[in-house]
Amino acid sequence: MYTVYLTHLNKVLKTVDKRTVQNLFSFLHARNYIKYSSTRMRQHLAKLEGKATFDMNDRCTTIVENLYNVGLAKVMARTRYTPDVKTSMDSMIRALKVTLKESIGKQAWLGAASKSKAKNKVDKTNVKYGIDLTDTELDALYKDFTVYPGKFASSFYNFYVQNKRFYLRDLNKSRKTWRWRFSMTGPVAFYVSDLNEVEIALGMLREPVIGDGYPGYYNFGNLGFIIGHELSHAFDSQGSKFDAQGNYVSWWTQAEVNAYKGQVQCIIDQYSNFFDVLAQKNINGTITQSENTALSSGVAQAYKAYKKWRKTHNEKPLPNLGLNEDQLFFLSSTQLFCRKYTKAAVLQQLTYSNGPMTWRHVGAYQNSAAFAKAFQCKPKDFMVPKKRCLVWQ
Ligand SMILES: [Zn+2]
Repeated sequence: MYTVYLTHLNKVLKTVDKRTVQNLFSFLHARNYIKYSSTRMRQHLAKLEGKATFDMNDRCTTIVENLYNVGLAKVMARTRYTPDVKTSMDSMIRALKVTLKESIGKQAWLGAASKSKAKNKVDKTNVKYGIDLTDTELDALYKDFTVYPGKFASSFYNFYVQNKRFYLRDLNKSRKTWRWRFSMTGPVAFYVSDLNEVEIALGMLREPVIGDGYPGYYNFGNLGFIIGHELSHAFDSQGSKFDAQGNYVSWWTQAEVNAYKGQVQCIIDQYSNFFDVLAQKNINGTITQSENTALSSGVAQAYKAYKKWRKTHNEKPLPNLGLNEDQLFFLSSTQLFCRKYTKAAVLQQLTYSNGPMTWRHVGAYQNSAAFAKAFQCKPKDFMVPKKRCLVWQ
């Protein structure tokens, strides 16, 4: 997507004079501030952008989230980063690392030396969630942030400038362990290849992802799937190019690299054959390959971890649903991402590396023999493909 954009941008820049480009940059810069200025200016901007008005809630929450992210994380951590949550997270992370290492051990195309390196990479993957920062440390971080009573724009500008300094002042210093690459507060989780790190933001540490007394099939289907998915990104088409320390180095033999490409090609072909009726287009299996690889592996790891956990824990399926525990595991794992989209939204998602939410999951469950067994699918059913893509399973 970005290559296409940059190619077009290059063509446009060659035909437009420099003054126009300069004006555009000045306007884009100013536009970021207009939202935070007077009502009259905001009305002009809204008109220009074809909006009825700017949402004030959106304006204020965006400022706090973007410019005071660590402080906000500290506040959220009071309710989200509790000893109970920490215990649940740590045991879930341990369980998912074990199943992923077992899956790595089963890959016939991977030699013993690379298997050992891959397992070491799983051990070294730093899974971050919550925040370990004292109030005193937090106060020191924000000591230059000033609120001027009655002067919203000045206060905003001060926060904006200080926030830039906040992230620049530690350049060339060793990385602070509490520092995150992405937002610490949103409902998001990421894998960062060059740090070999999983970041699970505080927005994820709440219902419906995690909660007191939830059944095992629910926890493993939700949180387990998220953790398994992010850990698996260390071995997708991109993540696999980085070693356990996050260095961009090749740690596989050429024969293994070729064999792995074949494994991923299966996923590319599988997703490229999905046709979205609403958008009247096929999924782009190439740009979504990393996500889809991590999803297929993630659900497999979470299911295996759940089955292990179940051996030593007693629980009953939820009453009145007529579904067994395995079915509830898969049902739980889809709920968080179950959404309804307009055609325009699907068309936009087709250009993203994540792809439309529905197809992401359909592909992952097609690749799961456990899913087909749980729902007693027949050999020619849609959810039972002729060939399953079993990378990292
Ligand atoms: Zn992902």
